[in-house]
Amino acid sequence: MEQYTVDELEDALKVVKMLIPQRYECLACYLNRMLSHGCTGLKWCTTYRDLRAPRATALERKFPALGGHCDCEVMMNVFRANEAFWPREAENPSDDSYVPPCHKVRLGTIKPCELWVMRTGIQWGAGVFRAETKCA
Ligand SMILES: [Zn+2]
Ligand SMILES: [Zn+2]
Repeated sequence: MEQYTVDELEDALKVVKMLIPQRYECLACYLNRMLSHGCTGLKWCTTYRDLRAPRATALERKFPALGGHCDCEVMMNVFRANEAFWPREAENPSDDSYVPPCHKVRLGTIKPCELWVMRTGIQWGAGVFRAETKCA
């Protein structure tokens, strides 16, 4: 059997590290990061859950009920940015892709950090929640 070189293993490890939640990174920040790798059902949600919050077993039932049938729909329908913590465009006109670093959460929760607000079944904002957005 072919052996891997140390370099190959180190490169592989870098890839794996990018794909797993950082310590204390919240689900929303993790999902936001992972969606650049594409959306395949609730893959990133369940990866996070299995690694960081194994007791959050209701996730697969709860998120679709809130309009999150897959990872990108969770980002569109279940979490929303808590605007107070995001730089306004005017302050940062050159870089609209800037994402603040995660404010961190304790291990074992699927709740987002302060950067996000989580839909809990109660309507958001002024009693109106935007219509569900479907995965393309
Ligand atoms: Zn999707
Ligand atoms: Zn976060």
